[in-house]
Amino acid sequence: MERRGAVTFDDVNPADGSVIAQVCAADRGFVDEAVAAARIAVNGEWGAMPVRDRATALYRVASAIEARSDCFVAAEVADTGKPVALASRLDIPRAAANFRVFADLIKTAGIEAFHTETVLNYAVRKPLGVVGIITPWNLPLLLLTWKVAPALACGNAVVVKPSEETPATATLLAGVMKEAGIPDGVYNVVHGFGVGSAGEFLSTHAGIDAITFTGESSTGAAIMAAAAPTVKPVSFELGGKNAAIVFADCDFEETADGLAEAVFLNTGQVCLCAERVYVEQSIFASFVEALKRRAAALIPGWPMDTATTLGPLISKEHRSKVLSYYDLARAEGATVVTGGGIPRFGDARDQGCYVQPTLLTGLAEDARCVKEEIFGPVCHIAPFQDEEEAIRMANDTKYGLAASVWTSNLKRGHRVAQQMKAGIAWVNCWFLRDLRTPFGGAGISGIGREGGMHSLNFYSELNNICVKL
Ligand code: NAD
Repeated sequence: MERRGAVTFDDVNPADGSVIAQVCAADRGFVDEAVAAARIAVNGEWGAMPVRDRATALYRVASAIEARSDCFVAAEVADTGKPVALASRLDIPRAAANFRVFADLIKTAGIEAFHTETVLNYAVRKPLGVVGIITPWNLPLLLLTWKVAPALACGNAVVVKPSEETPATATLLAGVMKEAGIPDGVYNVVHGFGVGSAGEFLSTHAGIDAITFTGESSTGAAIMAAAAPTVKPVSFELGGKNAAIVFADCDFEETADGLAEAVFLNTGQVCLCAERVYVEQSIFASFVEALKRRAAALIPGWPMDTATTLGPLISKEHRSKVLSYYDLARAEGATVVTGGGIPRFGDARDQGCYVQPTLLTGLAEDARCVKEEIFGPVCHIAPFQDEEEAIRMANDTKYGLAASVWTSNLKRGHRVAQQMKAGIAWVNCWFLRDLRTPFGGAGISGIGREGGMHSLNFYSELNNICVKL
């Protein structure tokens, strides 16, 4: 629904700075209407729908996303500047997969029961009600549907607020919901910003029963404070400063390929990207060279060109932040192995938000560039002497989202992975995800776990029934 007289803001293509669309910012009244529509839906047909029918509706949503895949891909690429090959391979297929996985799960989700001679306790699963969903710009539809799908599977209605940088695919999803026969009011989109805007209106709203959020740790803290007066349950997936540990006995080429992906995928704008790479001393110099070769092989280009492997950053503002870390790294004494600046194209891309892929060495472990999340195509590579030192350095962080360990010694792989302060630790791989597994962060990287049954439990109210026999 368009709002009369609404304030609008620009949706900008980060590849060349062109304006794609004008977006209506939701005011407080509009957020009230969205929450009210969601309440009616959850108290009506949707909340009462048998689980099997709800699951069937979610399968239809998945198929409808796939049927309109080209449209979703084009919108995601225009909003984010990510390479079309990546959006086609990752973002949009995963959005459809999110609906399938949670439709499957809700049909088979069991309940807890405890039976003694005299008493039977069992749990029943009910919707929480109206869930507020606030998401970032890096994997817009993928991360939004990661929350929408389980919330709907559990019978909730949702009000989503996508990032102001990437409003398109959340809006397209509304059309798909309608096409798939999801009742009106189940899925509502409000656009806008954080403080003093739709994000704040949603997280403080008395009619919102829970908030699920993905974004920066500091934003999570602000949302937690905003949600506190109404004691809303929160689930937070936040930032990271993820470490990779490379042992000398790794499969060298496979590890270099894997880490090039872990550092540069989506121009380094994945919360799981590795920004700290620790390499065993004996292969340090050759590994730095191997990563440098892979950085040089990246193809920065127009996002819709299928050959492009490195798109722009999301915005001018974010580019200034990343470039300020490139400068800070030099000031902190780093050696810039490659990159450290802006590429020049000689065309409209020079008005975009590109930066060079960058490798740093030589920083102290307490340097800000080693401590703070940069969220760009950059990592610091440092040598280590032994396993103990590698674990200590990897865990010396306030974050705790992800880690990866690269070794051909499987025993060591398990041992080191289990000692990582991280919600997920990969061994000889990165970014492989089974959507049924727990996902979340330690430290300031998050609160709670989503994925599989963990998502269903967050998005449900479990009531215990206690029967004297
Ligand atoms: P952000 O925190 O700036 O914004 C995320 C969303 O929150 C946006 O929709 C924004 O409008 C909204 N928002 C901002 N301030 C708000 C406020 N005070 N109240 C309510 N809403 C508010 O994050 P971003 O820059 O969009 O995304 C990048 C960050 O997200 C990085 O830190 C990255 O690590 C993190 N991230 C984490 C995960 C994960 O799964 N842990 C996944 C992707 C991204």
